Amino acid sequence: MNACMLVKFSSAPKLQILFCKLTLILFFCFFPLSFISLSFGEHAPEIASYKIEVKLDTENKKLLGNEILIFRNISNKKIDTLFLHLYPNAFQSDTTIFMKESLYPDRIKKKEKYRGYVEIKKIKVNSGYDLTKEKIIDETIMKLPLQKPLTPGKTISLEVEFMVKLPQVLARMGYSGNTFVIGQWFPKMAVLEEDGGWNAHPYHANAEFFADFGTYDVSITVPLEYVVGASGYLQEERMNQDSTKTLVYRAEDVHDFAWVADPDYLIAERAVDEVELVFLYQSENKKKVERIMDAAEFALKYYGSVFGEYHYSRFVMADANVGFGGGAMEYPTFITISPSKLFTEKIKLDEMIIFHEIAHQWWYGMVASNEFEEAWLDEGFAVYSQRKALEERFGKTGNLVDLWGIEIGDQDLAKFGYLLDPQSDIPVKNSWEFQDYLSYRANVYYKASLFLETLENLLGQEKMKKLLREYFLRYKFKHPKTEDFIQLVAEIGGDDLDPFFFQFLFETGICDYQVASVKSTPLKKENEQQIYQSEVLLKRSGEAKIPVEVLIELEDGKRIEKIWDGKRRWYRIELETKSRIESVMVDPENKIVLDIDVNNNSLTTKSQDSVIFKLCSQYLFLMQTFIQWITSF
Ligand SMILES: [Zn+2]
Repeated sequence: MNACMLVKFSSAPKLQILFCKLTLILFFCFFPLSFISLSFGEHAPEIASYKIEVKLDTENKKLLGNEILIFRNISNKKIDTLFLHLYPNAFQSDTTIFMKESLYPDRIKKKEKYRGYVEIKKIKVNSGYDLTKEKIIDETIMKLPLQKPLTPGKTISLEVEFMVKLPQVLARMGYSGNTFVIGQWFPKMAVLEEDGGWNAHPYHANAEFFADFGTYDVSITVPLEYVVGASGYLQEERMNQDSTKTLVYRAEDVHDFAWVADPDYLIAERAVDEVELVFLYQSENKKKVERIMDAAEFALKYYGSVFGEYHYSRFVMADANVGFGGGAMEYPTFITISPSKLFTEKIKLDEMIIFHEIAHQWWYGMVASNEFEEAWLDEGFAVYSQRKALEERFGKTGNLVDLWGIEIGDQDLAKFGYLLDPQSDIPVKNSWEFQDYLSYRANVYYKASLFLETLENLLGQEKMKKLLREYFLRYKFKHPKTEDFIQLVAEIGGDDLDPFFFQFLFETGICDYQVASVKSTPLKKENEQQIYQSEVLLKRSGEAKIPVEVLIELEDGKRIEKIWDGKRRWYRIELETKSRIESVMVDPENKIVLDIDVNNNSLTTKSQDSVIFKLCSQYLFLMQTFIQWITSF
């Protein structure tokens, strides 16, 4: 046996080479420890692995599938029931949990073409006992009572024969014309917690997903003319007798597998260091291909250098401009995007969405937090990351729009989104328990991203980079929770940030500091020099308390800096100055990006007309952009 075969390879070639070299050395020196030491930490734990054969019936809009699921009991309890997700059943009627919660109008929900479901035809355990009749299906959750309990550390094999009726795409799965977008499509294990409890939530409209890592071997059979894009790596492509072809994919160290098929896809490819970057696009977006590939290349390199290496050697983007809700979505090593109809390079919506979805490769794909229960850990992190990428590539301001003198940055858009509903909910809660979709987005996406940016401003850039890198390395291929992140911040930044976390993640209070009044009155003369009694009144209008910097500028150019602990409702600064106060500003460097109203952060004697005009223009533009944006990812 070749020593290299002793370790399970990463699919990344450079890691393979590195592993080979290291394994050869260690094999001869320390066998049998070499196997253990090299595998540890590098690969995801194999908990739920799948071997699926699926055939796409393009005529009848169906998937015919056979799945072998290998599941390992990683809990410390015996398990007598298995829980699986049957996500396609979200579309089985207009009264499912998903449909009732979703924002689609009733006339859409009731249309037959949006119906979809999964039918479980047969289930066998360990190639023997037939469990088909024992299954208990409640919409998107299937319970399987086992004949014999599964003891800790043991694996069980399920053979499942299934058929998925694909809906016209409403959300993430289905068809639109000849385009098939296949996400959340196969019977999928729920997550078994360490204490033996199941984390198995139904498919909610606001929630996304949560699953354990494993290996996926997926054979996809489609009509010959179809072009397929998928998670993982293409291992084999073979022609069949019946004018179909079968593509065999393998995806390792992932917790999901999605794919698309369309006869009209064109293919763009590019090598990005060790990663093969692929874009499946429609001819109408041909002019955007280079721009989209450039954006993806930038994001892969940037996040790789800041957070830690992208673990895989392939990344695929698929153009999924499929009407309702197909749009942009993240899957391991694979995303769908809907290029915007705006072709000007002065508006960076495409870059923003690509940066967002690629950020999910880190915050969801590799660091796999629970999207059902703590969506801020992937969405908030992805929005924060997209902003850092936009700022790195296009500058701090105007990185989203720089047109007709109007400059809008990603931070502006996040503030706008946050202000749409800043106080109905806190960011850390179950996704389906938010008041509505607006509040979900306002808190989970925007407030969370502004929270992380404020944290960066409090910690400093270097510590923030260290924090995110450590968070990635420590929780790669794991399921971290909010408390794990808070613990890590305490390790790197100190415990005194606890009140900051508590106020912004677990309370609804807003943050708003303002300069309420400024006055300077002549007091006396000293050696012919006029002395003024100057007074500044600062106020805290929001509930959130955070130390705030204050900058006072005098007419003679002198600058006075103060720090207010921000705890009381108001704070008066009294000074004797040799010149009148010209302006006062709280948080002059805009560190507290969670401050909901920066217009009251300063008082100045300078004219405000041009500023007000600019703000109005930006507001109108943000309104338009937000409507477009809110329909994506
Ligand atoms: Zn997202």
